[in-house]
Amino acid sequence: MDPKHIAELRSLIGDPARVIVNPQMVEQLSRDFYWYSPVLRKQLDGKVGEVVVQPLSAGDVQKTLRYCFLNNIPVTARGAGTGNYGQAVPLEGGVVLDLARMDRIEEITKDGVAVCQPGVRLGDLENEGRKAGWELRCYPSTIIKASVGGFLGGGSGGIGTVTHGGLRDFQTVRAIEVVTMEPEPRIVLHEGEAVHEILHAWGTNGIITRIWLALTPAVDWSQCVVAFDSFNAAFDFSEQIAVDERWIKRLVTVFEWPIPSFFTPILHYAPEGHTLIFFMIASSQLSELEAAARKAGGKVTHSAAYPGLHARPLLSDYTWNHTTLWAIRTDEAYTYLQCGFSHENAREQLRRLREKFGMEILFHMEFMKNGDGIVFPGAIPVVYYTTEERLNEMIDFCREIGVWVANPHVNNVEGGGRYRPDNVQLLAKQKYDPKGLLNPGKMVTFHSQSSPAGASTK
Ligand code: FAD
Repeated sequence: MDPKHIAELRSLIGDPARVIVNPQMVEQLSRDFYWYSPVLRKQLDGKVGEVVVQPLSAGDVQKTLRYCFLNNIPVTARGAGTGNYGQAVPLEGGVVLDLARMDRIEEITKDGVAVCQPGVRLGDLENEGRKAGWELRCYPSTIIKASVGGFLGGGSGGIGTVTHGGLRDFQTVRAIEVVTMEPEPRIVLHEGEAVHEILHAWGTNGIITRIWLALTPAVDWSQCVVAFDSFNAAFDFSEQIAVDERWIKRLVTVFEWPIPSFFTPILHYAPEGHTLIFFMIASSQLSELEAAARKAGGKVTHSAAYPGLHARPLLSDYTWNHTTLWAIRTDEAYTYLQCGFSHENAREQLRRLREKFGMEILFHMEFMKNGDGIVFPGAIPVVYYTTEERLNEMIDFCREIGVWVANPHVNNVEGGGRYRPDNVQLLAKQKYDPKGLLNPGKMVTFHSQSSPAGASTK
């Protein structure tokens, strides 16, 4: 980047230490966990920004965006960089806008809404919320590192989703304030349905500077591991607990063997050849759950009160997309898919996948509630990667048999499976980023200053 721009940005921000040009740091702050995907690895290795700017306020963001708009400099927002699809990897250099220092929790209201800046870590919000009798409705397994802004920009759900739905459901995100990429960047408040213009848009249509996130009353949780000698018995039992509203739960995860053998620190909970279920269950129901599990043929291999995120083991560290990480540590050829099975005929869908792909796909199920209140078996299956063609064959077959797939091997908003068919994310980009400078290349249906086919520019 032209040194003139660096000097100007430093003078605008007023603190040279918050405009970073050290190549190692810039590289580090340009990466995320895209390397989970052998397909994305080929596309994104070596993509870096040119300078990192660390704002402390919406005012700093406005100043940076005003300068970048004037000088046609791309800007890619970054929370904690734990995203999986290269969401935060700058494709065209420019500024990496690192929001980690905007990390203030402003308020937790009496009715349980957290008001905070985007760089607040989800784990800090969970801990602060619990002090006031509240907790997150849902969170990714990266809770300790991931930021609230990054979760809104690129995440979807996780622990808690079995009860409260995903991040985009049930008005969990009440409002979002964003700064626009215009000649005079504005601060725009999105409330109610309008939050969907910004959610899961990968920072392509505005920089989130303030969030209103609904929490839920805190529960006294316990963690429990149950082993079954067959996948089918484990799946039946887990589904029974997941769909029955009477059970107060935060996590219902099933891992078929050999996935539990990848969890090296907790192998003592994983009898050879068994399928494991991980639960987070209300402590008041723990002994009842254990009795029900034994009655169903399961063996309880671990059960303890959950003291919070410092729990050892922290079972969520093995669930959701952490499972893939443990698999990759065991063999670098593993990767993953993100699926939604039918709540009515998941067993048949699983059977057909096993019949066609054998142990190339290992079943890792995560029960979730959708926006209509239906609990269904979501899944982040672990896949043994051989070629891109074979991976695509698996995705096509899943879709053919009615298994929904959010493809984690593509690097654009539209291809990943959370893009809204009503195009609201794209329409917002046309309004708020007319030059296409925010995270360029990630919203492929956007064409600068022109209206893409089928979309209105109102
Ligand atoms: P980043 O990766 O920094 O950013 C994500 C996206 O949001 C990027 O496009 C970025 O440009 C944009 N962004 C960041 N901040 C802003 C802002 N202020 N304004 C506008 N755009 C912004 N995800 C889940 O949903 N559920 C899971 O259970 C889950 N498990 C995971 C497990 C592992 C081991 C890993 C590596 C990832 C997992 N993820 C999961 C993905 C990721 O951790 C989450 O989506 C997380 O919430 C991202 O937060 P972050 O702060 O790291 O965001």
